[in-house]
Amino acid sequence: MSAPENHVSPLAAPVSSVWGVGEERARLLARLDIFTIEDLLLHKPRRYEDRRKFLPIRDLQLKEAATVRGQIIAAGTKHFKKGTRTMFECVFDDGTARLHGRWWQAQPWMPDWYAVGREFLIYGKLDDDKKPRTFTHPETELVEPGDDEFIHVNRIVPVHPLTEGLTARVLRSLVWRALEKFEKEIAEPQVGRDTSCAPTAATARRAEDCAPYLNLPSRANAVRLIHFPEELLDAEIARQRLALDEFVALQFQIQARRKKFEASAKGLPCGGDNRLMKPFLAALGFKLTAAQANVLKEIRADMGGAHPMRRLLQGDVGSGKTAVAACSALMALESGFNGALMAPTEILAEQHYRNFTNWLEPLGVKVELQTGSRKTQEVQSPKSKVQSAAQREPSTLFIGTHALFTAGLELPKLGLVIIDEQHKFGVAQRETLVRKGHYPHLLVMTATPIPRTLGLTLYGDLDVSVIDEMPGGRGAIKTFVRTTEKLPKVFEFIREKIAGGRQAYIVYPRVEVADKDIKAVTKEFENVQRALTGCKVGLLHGRIKPADKEKTMAEFRANKIKALVATSLIEVGVDVPNATVMLIENAEHFGLAQLHQLRGRIGRGAHKSFCILISDAPHEDAQSRLKILAETNDGFKIAEADLKLRGPGELLGQQQSGLPNLRFGNLAEDLNLIRQARELVARGG
Ligand code: ADP
Ligand code: MG
Repeated sequence: MSAPENHVSPLAAPVSSVWGVGEERARLLARLDIFTIEDLLLHKPRRYEDRRKFLPIRDLQLKEAATVRGQIIAAGTKHFKKGTRTMFECVFDDGTARLHGRWWQAQPWMPDWYAVGREFLIYGKLDDDKKPRTFTHPETELVEPGDDEFIHVNRIVPVHPLTEGLTARVLRSLVWRALEKFEKEIAEPQVGRDTSCAPTAATARRAEDCAPYLNLPSRANAVRLIHFPEELLDAEIARQRLALDEFVALQFQIQARRKKFEASAKGLPCGGDNRLMKPFLAALGFKLTAAQANVLKEIRADMGGAHPMRRLLQGDVGSGKTAVAACSALMALESGFNGALMAPTEILAEQHYRNFTNWLEPLGVKVELQTGSRKTQEVQSPKSKVQSAAQREPSTLFIGTHALFTAGLELPKLGLVIIDEQHKFGVAQRETLVRKGHYPHLLVMTATPIPRTLGLTLYGDLDVSVIDEMPGGRGAIKTFVRTTEKLPKVFEFIREKIAGGRQAYIVYPRVEVADKDIKAVTKEFENVQRALTGCKVGLLHGRIKPADKEKTMAEFRANKIKALVATSLIEVGVDVPNATVMLIENAEHFGLAQLHQLRGRIGRGAHKSFCILISDAPHEDAQSRLKILAETNDGFKIAEADLKLRGPGELLGQQQSGLPNLRFGNLAEDLNLIRQARELVARGG
């Protein structure tokens, strides 16, 4: 039986249709983003408590969170002589022992609520092994024997995210009631039958739709189990089922967008004829690695294909993405189209401009630069555009920051847009930028290896190429984690390396001192100059004027400046093979992927390189995080660790507007589910 077209699910009804939800509770639920029955049913518990057997208070163990059940035998508020500090304390007894519950800053409602004689479930952890046994700020739940007591005890119970005025017990009861009344309305999503909308519980149940989910419970069952599991494992299985539905919905959107795009946009013929490529490769000075050559084959097939290329090029720092970009640009140029290359920073745009000018001008290709502060070509008014050289004879590569696309510059006959270091741009920006050129081919390059989970979701509408091989002849990079105590030795080491002809980067987290524990370039610049007397030291950060930045970089490249004191501004792209030392202070203030990027500035020449991470961060976490870097140079492993530690928004370097809103799915952990969802949708579509 299938549902009528415009079938509105009963689950879309306002949450007030659950018994016990009046205006006041509806208002509280709204604070938790719960408006409909479906929102309530999908309100994911933040944890579970096993209340099948309560621990006797006597048996509480240090450091182990547990739930006990006890009656209040005494309670009171303590006022302290000095100040306004108060403490509310009560004593629970369960017949085996007593437990003190303690709350700093007594609330006016506490004496009535925690009244002698009342029975509570108390969840917490023993403060320490001092007597009496104490929980500070425990979570509690009043035991009110009634018809629904079975929801709250003698089972594994959910503890949902709460809001002031709404207790765990009340919310749990509401979810239970909603399940009782609406569970039968929770239907299987329709996989692959309707690509325009996400599957919702509102669609009809069909046997064949359930087939792909053979190993997982039905959606209705999963919704029950996520709240009221029989065993803790059930809750995880239920989460997986609900996460799968989310990923399926996401893949629908991604694959539908891609299909729509392919149906509406024809590819420009940009396969090229090797006329420029041949002399370019002959003059390059090195042979492309097999990985580079393979990727170029994929790109050529795309650029000569029926649809505009949408390709993500991944390759660890230093794997040689720039040469691949140049070859791709040449394919477009050979085919009679212009190309554009966008970089995230001015420094990088300038560097690309220099490289590409050296590489391409001998071949008769014009290279133009457009950044916020510098341009080598006048911005054309629409009138003069007609006469522009680029218009008459497409043979120009435009290079710039995103000023390239925002400064009103006309980019005529654009065949290919290359975006370097994609992670610096918001995902949403991508297509708007490309629109400018009427669906040119798009090559997005990223040096932050993107864990598979993100590749398949966030970047799911792009094809992926990977350069998985480093050019040969590179010196190894050794990485060390040290404390500030060792700094004098580290600087001695840097002096030695400089004396041997090499150069160094010295990186700090801040531009200006704002916090005494976090070092800033402007202040440390002087200290470094003192530590390296006799050597010219350069300073680079975001607030330095572009012309001065460029001068400093030029002197660094020319080996006049021996050490460059900088912020993470140099994280992307900068390529000076003679620099072999990377010192990063307050390393705990950077993400792992970011540190890996910074480290990618060294190890580019034949000499052995050294990365020294300085951190006094006391927490074990910070230290073990940094150790990951000392242990591996593999960008994928590092990105995955970073994703797990800090989440996708942080990993990708900025607030990513394109991050999907997931209740159950986990972008760091759910690779298998994401793969499964992708296959399901591909099969169904
Ligand atoms: P990334 O992938 O980080 O952008 P680059 O394109 O900047 O890396 O390349 C890093 C360095 O490796 C550059 O100096 C570049 O000239 C050099 N390089 C690129 N490809 C090769 C190759 N096949 N053989 C030797 N060196 C190469
Ligand atoms: Mg690069």
